[in-house]
Amino acid sequence: MDAIQQYYPQLTTPGKVIITMHQKPDGDAMGSALGLYHFLIQLGHDVTVISPTNWADFLSWLPGASSVIDYEKKREHCIGLINAADTIYCLDFNILHRTKHMEIPLTRATAVKILIDHHQQPQEDAFNFGISNVYKSSTSEMVYDFIVESGHSNLINADAATCLYTGIMTDTGSFRFPSTTASVHHMIAHLKEIGLDHSRVHDKIYDNFLESRLRFIGHSLLNRMEVLYEYNTVLMAIPKEDLVRFETKTGDTEGLVNYLLSIQGIKLGALVIDRDEERRWSFRSKDDFDVNTFARNHFNGGGHKNAAGGKSLDSLQSTVEQFKKVLKQYQIQLLEKT
Ligand code: 5GP
Ligand code: MN
Repeated sequence: MDAIQQYYPQLTTPGKVIITMHQKPDGDAMGSALGLYHFLIQLGHDVTVISPTNWADFLSWLPGASSVIDYEKKREHCIGLINAADTIYCLDFNILHRTKHMEIPLTRATAVKILIDHHQQPQEDAFNFGISNVYKSSTSEMVYDFIVESGHSNLINADAATCLYTGIMTDTGSFRFPSTTASVHHMIAHLKEIGLDHSRVHDKIYDNFLESRLRFIGHSLLNRMEVLYEYNTVLMAIPKEDLVRFETKTGDTEGLVNYLLSIQGIKLGALVIDRDEERRWSFRSKDDFDVNTFARNHFNGGGHKNAAGGKSLDSLQSTVEQFKKVLKQYQIQLLEKT
């Protein structure tokens, strides 16, 4: 993978462009993809955003979201677009299998592939150009840097600003994580000058759910949460029956894991949800406890030091038992004072 700066001379030659991101895109994946979309169309490119799967309703109001294609719904059409593309931007993931069924068509595509991402250990040989920086708050911040550094900051319009702000806001936990640097705040100041309505973004993302989602969270906190004080850990396991009972939709479980770390002294929060094909883990940690390594070593996953995901093909009960078993190895680390 060559440095992304080497791609800048080609950026202004119009072509067929695909932008894609990780499956079940979150605010940063969708926000960075659409922020880039609003920039590239102004350079005359023919741009299509393809999501590997469906996405949460709370992202559907984003400017441009209605033109995003769900790969799982229009597979043949998407494969045609991928094969015909001159350039494919891969955003907010480090390894092609995070695009689920798109991995094979993306691998085979002859287009120039560009990575913009902030996850650890990128699959460098899969991309022609790229930038990977784990110190960045979000891929949306990196897309902003890409636009500015390539000399086009005048092309960041209100739609791009809204999308990029959404990604930065969601990936920084509303500007609270340590990744929220001075540069992030300078960038937001610039987006405000362009006309960003930040309150509207917060409303659309955080205050736009059905009653059933809040009932689901209440039920989960009361009945599905186990506090393991001897490990400074909180575990929450959600069985399929709960997802059915509260009619949860894609995105309804987003943010649930963050509650676990809000208990005094807790260093590790672990949420596992019984999804159809797999048991899906979300890990969050404080301080030096590295959940990227933990998820890689034990649950087939990865991510960042303080936020990672993983999966298991075992039953919910077995994967919970496995979690409790491996936790023993980390007791000293988890009980260390910082
Ligand atoms: P979440 O718990 O919100 O699904 O994921 C937390 C972070 O870890 C996100 O940045 C996400 O992209 C990353 N992540 C989640 N699952 C996986 C996985 O299976 N593999 C890798 N490499 N990263 C993951
Ligand atoms: Mn991200």
